[in-house]
Amino acid sequence: RFTTFASIEKPINPSVKIEHNQLLIDGKFVDAASGKTFPTLDPRTGNVIAQVAEGDAEDINRAVSAARKAFDEGPWPRMTPYIHGLTLPADGSYHVQTLHEPVGVAGQIIPWNFPLVMYGWKIGPALACANTVVLKTAEQTPLSALYVTSLLYEAGLPPGVLNVVSGFGASAGAPLCSHMDVDKIAFTGSTETGQRILEMAAKSNLKSVTLELGGKSPFIVCEDADIDQAAELAHFALFFNQGQCCCAGSRTLVHERVYDEFVEKAKACASKRVVGDPFQKGVQQGPQIDEKQFQKILKYIRSGVESGATLEIGGDRCGSKGYYIQPTIFSNVKDNMLIAQDEIFGPVQTILKYKDLDEVVRRANATQYGLAAGVFTQNLATANFLSRALRVGSVWINCYDVFDAAIPFGGYKMSGQGREKGIYSLSNYLQIKAVVTPLKNPAW
Ligand code: NAD
Repeated sequence: RFTTFASIEKPINPSVKIEHNQLLIDGKFVDAASGKTFPTLDPRTGNVIAQVAEGDAEDINRAVSAARKAFDEGPWPRMTPYIHGLTLPADGSYHVQTLHEPVGVAGQIIPWNFPLVMYGWKIGPALACANTVVLKTAEQTPLSALYVTSLLYEAGLPPGVLNVVSGFGASAGAPLCSHMDVDKIAFTGSTETGQRILEMAAKSNLKSVTLELGGKSPFIVCEDADIDQAAELAHFALFFNQGQCCCAGSRTLVHERVYDEFVEKAKACASKRVVGDPFQKGVQQGPQIDEKQFQKILKYIRSGVESGATLEIGGDRCGSKGYYIQPTIFSNVKDNMLIAQDEIFGPVQTILKYKDLDEVVRRANATQYGLAAGVFTQNLATANFLSRALRVGSVWINCYDVFDAAIPFGGYKMSGQGREKGIYSLSNYLQIKAVVTPLKNPAW
């Protein structure tokens, strides 16, 4: 009934050949300067898929030099026409126009939860605005960006325009953020790392920063809602992508009159969820990304039980191999419990009860985050009231996770700065230059 991301129709053969596992600098695949590599693991088993070149500060230097040269000397910034500016009246005696120009070399750091989507959201506006890029992928998921970038070069991208460095946060991400020749950083990941990035940018060359960080997004079910549909959509809002979604609807707030019925239906949805190898037909939930996230989620589940929430379903790992976790639901969750405050980033739904709209607005907003919210109601006035009262970057009414490329995405408060996608994303990658000309020749 809703636009959701369906499970795959046919089994896929996961044993594809890994074509690229080196760094991509100046249009060429190269080993890391140190010669080091690191393993990338299959979360279904914990087995090694491939060894990948491990970039560090020296590789970041090489990549930034290539991007700088491509920006300063290459054809790329000269190929793209200026997007447009304004003509402004100024004091009657000057002609003023603004030019929109590329920022320069953009450093981009992406997470592992949507390796290709994050890649696209980052490089699209940066390249469209004629910048050159050094992209650092997440250490858990280095391969897809290398492969897709190889296709861009095959299609004719000039050397150095997009450089991809695989590696770890401290040894490759941090040198990129502190680099004196990088003009801008765009980051998606945890709020803690986002704070460090702002600090590094401030202490180096005051490069501009955009951040897309964590969330603890409310999904509000109003008393007039069709409960079958609400339970189904709230289920999707939380469990999509194994719960590894910055905008997961991870606080399900349900009106007290429909609460018990909703919990039963939410449980029915979770009990039907098919967990298993994501390459197999019909599977809806695969493994968590790695051992660290897997252990973190199990710890939050234990904390939910210890703090007195009711464990309705799930609560443990699935099987004995890989990082699979049972779809888990807690009811009778209180705002002060850790599971209602922290970003769990896993398949754990927390269901809270509320009495009226003013109360739900206050509680929905009472968090450091402000990324997204869902509202499920049949009442237009309620939808309008809530969409204006919620301090978040996206409100989905009777839908969730609608990610059309034109729709801006980003957070209020500690969920981030700036917006990605569509026309709003372009301003992250453009400088504005004012050009002032006297209308009269000064000699006249
Ligand atoms: P993270 O923020 O540490 O990692 C994200 C990216 O930042 C990776 O590429 C990483 O290498 C890089 N990074 C890490 N430290 C860095 C540093 N000091 N300087 C520069 N770059 C650095 O996130 P994580 O450790 O993978 O996951 C931890 C938690 O973050 C998750 O449990 C989840 O709550 C949250 N998270 C949020 C998103 C999101 O989309 N907003 C994505 C992934 C993780």
